[in-house]
Amino acid sequence: MLKRIELSGFKSFAKKTTLTFDTPITAVVGPNGSGKSNVVESIRFVLGEQSIKSMRGKGSADLIWKGSKLLAGGTKARVSIAFDNSDRKFAFSNASGASAELGFDEITLSREVTADGGSDYFINGTNVRLKDITELLGSVNIGSSGHHIISQGEADRLLSASPKDRRGMVEDALGLKVYQMRIRDAERKLEKTALNMREVQALRRELAPHLIFLGKQVEKIKMAEELRKEFAGLYHEYATLESASIRFAEHELHTEESHIKREIASIEDVVTSSTSGKYDAERGVILDEVRTAENEQSKLFREKEELGRALGRIEGKLDALTVVHEETRGVTVVPVRDVQSLCADIIATIDTTETIEELSGVRSALLSMKHKIATFTDSLKGQKAPEIDRDSIRASIDHEKQALESRMREIDVLVSAVRDHVQVAREKLAKLEQEIRDSERSSYAGVARRATLDGQLRECAIRMENLTRRKSVLAEETREAEALLGVLMHGVTDGPMSEDTNEKFAEREALHRKLERIKIKLEDAGAASGAEVLKEFEDTRDRDAFLARELVDIEASITSLRALIHELRDTIERTFKEGIEKINVQFGDFFKLMFGGGGAFLSIVVEHKARRDEDGDMIDQDSDALPFEHGIEINVNLPHKKVRDLNMLSGGERSLISIALLFAMSQVNPPPFLVLDETDAALDEANSRKYGDMLTHLSQHSKLIVVTHNRETMSRAQVLYGVTMGLEGASKLLSIKFDEAVLIAK
Ligand code: ATP
Ligand code: MG
Repeated sequence: MLKRIELSGFKSFAKKTTLTFDTPITAVVGPNGSGKSNVVESIRFVLGEQSIKSMRGKGSADLIWKGSKLLAGGTKARVSIAFDNSDRKFAFSNASGASAELGFDEITLSREVTADGGSDYFINGTNVRLKDITELLGSVNIGSSGHHIISQGEADRLLSASPKDRRGMVEDALGLKVYQMRIRDAERKLEKTALNMREVQALRRELAPHLIFLGKQVEKIKMAEELRKEFAGLYHEYATLESASIRFAEHELHTEESHIKREIASIEDVVTSSTSGKYDAERGVILDEVRTAENEQSKLFREKEELGRALGRIEGKLDALTVVHEETRGVTVVPVRDVQSLCADIIATIDTTETIEELSGVRSALLSMKHKIATFTDSLKGQKAPEIDRDSIRASIDHEKQALESRMREIDVLVSAVRDHVQVAREKLAKLEQEIRDSERSSYAGVARRATLDGQLRECAIRMENLTRRKSVLAEETREAEALLGVLMHGVTDGPMSEDTNEKFAEREALHRKLERIKIKLEDAGAASGAEVLKEFEDTRDRDAFLARELVDIEASITSLRALIHELRDTIERTFKEGIEKINVQFGDFFKLMFGGGGAFLSIVVEHKARRDEDGDMIDQDSDALPFEHGIEINVNLPHKKVRDLNMLSGGERSLISIALLFAMSQVNPPPFLVLDETDAALDEANSRKYGDMLTHLSQHSKLIVVTHNRETMSRAQVLYGVTMGLEGASKLLSIKFDEAVLIAK
């Protein structure tokens, strides 16, 4: 398995040095301080040893060639170890046990450290983590406890180790590290999964109230959707009824209005005809007629009066004619004008006298008047009345009288005719006036009717206004409904018109009330966008369902991980116990061989290492963890000796027991190689032989690299490497023959 090792700049190996291990046993020989143990340490190093101390250094710089007088120091140390992998044993395994083998015939592991503490690992040249190296080595039974590398002075290592460390070495030797690694992996995974589960649970917890809230929202939205549907149906019904009623009322109103207007037009004719001056001309004519007739009549009356008076005068004349005839005998006739002139004269004198103040003046005036009167009376003396022809006068007067009387008769006839005329004309006028009054009366009735009709028209206008209002309210309500439903309501107002009967009105009102109630409910349901909330609800529900599924998966994987851990622990437990039994058989044999009798065996001890919590109180032991708290005790029974305490044994005895145990372990589960640095140092000749026999025996299954000064041991090796310290202060390697080796060793 192990093919070679290559050191470069590692400790005393300043230059690149290669050791090949083609034979079962390779011995490394050389004087003290030549660098043999450095070779052993280089193997520890490349396998991932973390303790610099175990490689006799304080820091990684101590692992790098420090330099000498002749050769300058290095900056890095590198060691490579090559294994044969033609049997494909090297493999990476995962926690569940599935392994992926590495398809290379040769596997080279390398490790490099630099002075500044950097440390790199490589597998076949690829930079990897230490974990990968450990895991890969685990697959070929090379555990990290390094039980198969016994450093110088550690011949009794297995004896001096604590029971627990010993157990680690035994487990390593039994190849249980792989399982433990898997357990650790599974545990890590379990931890991660548990954390994941808690996270998922937390997420679900976080999601839960939101989901409930959204669920309620969705319920509301669905309810609102139902309401909206109901609203749409009812609104359609309502709007149809309302618009049909409005249109019917409109139609009715138009008809009524046109009736009224027609009536108004007809009244208009009557009123205008009555109020026009159609009677005026006729009335004027009749009035003229009346007036003419009346004038005629009064003229006739006046003429008749005149005639009457003239007749009177004529009567008087006739009378006077008779009287004058009787009296004019002895009577002087004095012309009137003479008398009038005398009177005027006297009056004038009196008027003048009134202004005279002196009595003499008045006396003269009176004398003048006496004179005048005397003169007048004197003039009258001797005058006589003229003689009159009375008969001719009488005759002319009678003639005149007859003429007058005839005229009087004519007038009477005329008067009677005129009176009739007046009568007729007046009657005509009265009739016309009656007619006018009648016409006016009917005109007044028309005006009154018209006022009524005007009132009705105004009422119609008000009703029309109401209808218009109802129309605009309906339009507004339709717009609102459209906004509420988010759809246009075409044609809701296109149905046939119909009369708003009482039942229909009640139905319409009931619908309206119902719509209002639904509207309030819808407004209550909120204006949340349904689609968005629905989408969010579905997303959240999906997410929750996804998380729930994930939780189920996680729980399943937790269960399977637990089962795996349990199974692995069982396997470890079983393999461990079986391994111990097998080792005990070998151990007893090797022991008897070494000591020529007696016996030795391993026993499992339960170290009840109760854990304590932070306060120092005891914590109950986790039963699952118990097997790992077990340790391994070595029991020996030396022939002829009573001493059982390992500490009381001699150094050689301790080495022998330790070697016997190591060989027993290696026998049960052979490691790919064993490195033994002067493990034989404390052995006497007889035991050296027995040791040599055991080496030969072991080399059947594992490659052995032995560092030795022992001749017997050297004789068992097929290849010998001599290590010397050259002039440059660096280790040198050379392949040598046995005899040379014996010489070198000395
Ligand atoms: P022995 O037979 O006594 O066990 P050995 O052959 O095993 O001897 P080693 O212990 O391998 O000897 O070698 C030790 C030598 O290596 C010392 O002389 C030491 O000076 C040298 N050495 C150790 N580390 C370094 C280093 N970093 N650089 C140079 N030389 C080193
Ligand atoms: Mg040494």
